[in-house]
Amino acid sequence: MKKHALALGVALWAAGSGLALAKEHAEHGAHAPAAAHAHTAHWGYEGATGPAHWGDLDPGFSTCKTGRNQSPVNLDDTLAVGTVGLPAVDIAYGTPALNVINNGHTVQVNYPAGSYIKVGGHRFDLLQFHFHTPSEHQHNGENLPMEMHLVHKDAHGNLAVIGILYRTGAENPELQKLIDHLPADIGKAHTHEQVHIDLTKFFPHDRRFYKYSGSLTTPPCSEGVYWMVFRQPIEASEAQIAALQKLLGHNNRPVQPHYARHMLKSWSGQ
Ligand SMILES: [Zn+2]
Repeated sequence: MKKHALALGVALWAAGSGLALAKEHAEHGAHAPAAAHAHTAHWGYEGATGPAHWGDLDPGFSTCKTGRNQSPVNLDDTLAVGTVGLPAVDIAYGTPALNVINNGHTVQVNYPAGSYIKVGGHRFDLLQFHFHTPSEHQHNGENLPMEMHLVHKDAHGNLAVIGILYRTGAENPELQKLIDHLPADIGKAHTHEQVHIDLTKFFPHDRRFYKYSGSLTTPPCSEGVYWMVFRQPIEASEAQIAALQKLLGHNNRPVQPHYARHMLKSWSGQ
């Protein structure tokens, strides 16, 4: 892999104490190809295999219905707990050749070793990013048209996910590189040696974010995932969002109860 570590020291802030992090249950990341899980139940987003039934489809999916730290959630500016003095998140993403797969649940871009974040000095390697249409997290009770998840894993298998929301607006040139190479088939990874996506261009100008302990938003809904979701959406054109929506359909899990959790925000005040 050609490595162009950016080491931006981006002024993200991670909320603090007690990183409660889940062991990863999925063998190949949060959204593994369906073929790798032939031994688990088929699941989807509608009808008898939809989100309301995930917990009953397979014994391994029971956390989807019994969990009390599930994702996604509504992120409300007035309810989230303000924080100050949090450790920084440093970002060092490479720009490897585009490797993209439609795994039957989402479009996913896979990363080889070498791209990572450090949360308060603790390293999580970037595994992949993927999309949901419409968004999974809500902001102040509203869904947005699209959400991107950057899935990271530490040396012990704990997951940290960065969520980036999209609103309809200007065309997004970096996103277009992916849209120009969306797979036509399902379950097969395609490498495009000449295409290199710079993930730092997907980060919003306003780096304030929400932080909470949640779960995978797909079966087996494993908990202990360290979630960071940016407050400010980035933009993509109506045609770009439509292109992804056409391929993905509706692949968003509904918001889950907070139960005893506090949602934290990386700023104080409103
Ligand atoms: Zn996701």
